Amino acid sequence: MSTGCTETPVLKERGQREVFCGLTGIIWLHRKMQDAFFLVVGSRTCAHLLQSAAGVMIFAEPRFGTAILEEKDLAGMADANEELDREVARLLARRPDIRQLFLVGSCPSEVIKLDLARAAERLSAEHGPHVRVLNYSGSGIETTFTQGEDACLAAMVPALKGTDEKQLLLVGALPDVVEDQALALLDQIGISPVRCLPAIRAEQDAAIGPNTRFALTQPFLGDTHAALVRRGAQHIAAPFPFGAEGTTLWLKAVAAAFGIAPETVDRVVAAPRARAEKAIAASAEILRGKTIFFMPDSQLEIPLARFLSRECGMQPVEIGTPYLHTDLHGPELALIAQGPIISEGQDVDLQLDRVRAMRPDLTVCGLGLANPLEAEGLSTKWAIELVFTPVHFYEQAGDLAALFSRPLRRRSLLQRQHPNRMEAAE
Ligand code: SF4
Repeated sequence: MSTGCTETPVLKERGQREVFCGLTGIIWLHRKMQDAFFLVVGSRTCAHLLQSAAGVMIFAEPRFGTAILEEKDLAGMADANEELDREVARLLARRPDIRQLFLVGSCPSEVIKLDLARAAERLSAEHGPHVRVLNYSGSGIETTFTQGEDACLAAMVPALKGTDEKQLLLVGALPDVVEDQALALLDQIGISPVRCLPAIRAEQDAAIGPNTRFALTQPFLGDTHAALVRRGAQHIAAPFPFGAEGTTLWLKAVAAAFGIAPETVDRVVAAPRARAEKAIAASAEILRGKTIFFMPDSQLEIPLARFLSRECGMQPVEIGTPYLHTDLHGPELALIAQGPIISEGQDVDLQLDRVRAMRPDLTVCGLGLANPLEAEGLSTKWAIELVFTPVHFYEQAGDLAALFSRPLRRRSLLQRQHPNRMEAAE
């Protein structure tokens, strides 16, 4: 039996990186957790990042903000803790709807070694039990932007109550409509009770224990996985629910953990699976035979390479990921045919050299790299779009494939309309 890329030696790189920081996750986390507030303890730069990333949706009462560290805080001339306590007291007095407050660390708060764990304990004692105060790091000192969600969920796990109930825990912040689809499928398959981390409100938070089986919906939740295992919960290893095949394998692995036969899953999913395959086929016509290079960015690279190679006929030439977690990514690697370079970490200049040498049909990369590569005649896809767009499970599988076919379609149109200009760029 083929083990795919399981045994492929991993090229490990450590050097300059080109990614967003973990604060980015606040944009989707604050939409999901509706009684939470994310207070970034950072600089004006952090406030600007959040404002511009969330710029399209200005709320009258936003559920995130920045406690700005001024120069005197950074120079150690003021007690940043006192100011933080005052800021939090003001916020909570004004916003009684807040039940969970996340103190989010940033580069500046980490550089001055502001102890947000201790601040969260102190503030929990002061404002609990009505408000639970937790902390995590969203700083750019971590490697990439999806670590923000991982750090947030991992911080929540120790605070969850204990239970011996047998249950399924779905882990990962999915858009509500996608989460509802997943819950409906699991219900039809006969799995219950099912709980979600994160829950929409603090009062709906799952209790966990040794009879909790958990399935990740995002491949970047390595720390959350470790925190759940420490609480005795058992991980259901599976490919991630991207594409028709990935979703089916994920559901079958979950069903098996609850003693339900794969035939039951096949029966329940027959119609949505057929819809997904049909939707994917429209994009696969364009994607088949095309080469793709993944720069390490969102941590979705390995599951997406599996989806694009097996369901869309693409040929990955390099699959870069910021982190390679064997527990999480092992089932995916086993499904990817040997051939691509698998790389972990980043040395951006070396990797760009490889992109230029290979000239793939499509390069998945961060925003900062996309424009220069486009100017060199290469088609690109922004990695961050993959996290902001609903792409999980059957009903979104066609949209997922279309995210990759669109830039190729656009380039071939441009080539037809402006053949001379495109040649000059190349
Ligand atoms: S956390 Fe660091 S990388 Fe992120 S916006 Fe603030 S200063 Fe910049």
